[in-house]
Amino acid sequence: MTQGGRKPRARSRAAILPSVPSPSVEFTFDTTATGHARLGRMTTAHGPIDTPQFMPVGTQATVKSLSPADLRATGAQMILGNTYHLNLRPTAERIDRLGGLHRFMAWDGPILTDSGGFQVFSLADLRRVDDEGVTFTSHLDGSTHRLTPERAMEIQALLGSDVAMAFDQLVDPGLPRAAVADAMARTHRWAERSLAARGRPDQAVFGIVQGGVDPDLRRESVAVVSALPFDGIAIGGLSVGESKADMATTLALVAEALGDDPRPRYLMGVGSPVDFFTAVERGVDLFDCVLPTRVARTGQVWTDAGRLNLRNAAFLDDPSPIDAACACEACGQHSRAYLAHLFRARELLGYRLATLHNVTWTLELMRRLRASLADGSFDAMRAKVVAAFARSETAAS
Ligand SMILES: [Zn+2]
Repeated sequence: MTQGGRKPRARSRAAILPSVPSPSVEFTFDTTATGHARLGRMTTAHGPIDTPQFMPVGTQATVKSLSPADLRATGAQMILGNTYHLNLRPTAERIDRLGGLHRFMAWDGPILTDSGGFQVFSLADLRRVDDEGVTFTSHLDGSTHRLTPERAMEIQALLGSDVAMAFDQLVDPGLPRAAVADAMARTHRWAERSLAARGRPDQAVFGIVQGGVDPDLRRESVAVVSALPFDGIAIGGLSVGESKADMATTLALVAEALGDDPRPRYLMGVGSPVDFFTAVERGVDLFDCVLPTRVARTGQVWTDAGRLNLRNAAFLDDPSPIDAACACEACGQHSRAYLAHLFRARELLGYRLATLHNVTWTLELMRRLRASLADGSFDAMRAKVVAAFARSETAAS
């Protein structure tokens, strides 16, 4: 950590901008023998990321219950911060005055920020969408706010993330086609405005493909967004309630439509073990999701044998670790019995240890997935993960 033991000191924005403009991201990859899967490396202003890669979500400038040292120990290379939340509290201007998001949260690795669009359309009350932007009331205190492509880019420049996302309009893919098409067309207009408003030379900007699960709309969206000079292409509007089959079909279609486009591809909001394999085979390089950290706080941990629910009474007498093969602090020092006790007693350490384990296990899964692409064992590894999680799904129901 760059912070060391020093007290954070506010710095002017000018001081954190690089003196020489640098390329915002570089991405190199090898194609593999597995479908459209790519094995690559993305280099950002705060370091490299091996791809395919999963980004733990640090909604409020913290990955819930983990310190930056914990995050490093999990093997995290890049994390995600939320524009909507950080701008409502403590505000982007305050984080900028305190030296930017990296310094504020003492994480010196790469950070991607979303544009706030997803939360505006999923969390905020009383939304009013027009072509200029979105007016909404805060879910925290009811105050009125306005988010436009220009403001979303300004906020992300103030936060100083390595990758900023274009502002998009998310809609339920189950809505009538005309509504999905309308939101997609607006997303395309906002994509151009987001690019025109990009704020800093050391920040990459990714565009977002929408279009629901309608094949023609998705193809049109890929054509429009990939024709713009974005540094990467994100696939939005999936993992929002559509079927697994629809997600797989849509990803296959996007992979075909992108062809040999050399930019990194990021699937937003997907983070379940089986979905990684579905998406990587269809050319996805980056993922983010609250799932591994959110389920950890309910006592659900992921292992090579599938899911375990630590609240289950059967674990109260189980002296074995969560997963004997896992290198995390929870597995190295504690038993399932101890964790089961912590969850029953609602002790804070339980949330931290379960989160530490799930993030470590997920990132190790991604490392093994990359290795399997390199040595040709991808299909065998997927079969194991699918079987383990299908088994525990059945056991849990
Ligand atoms: Zn572990």
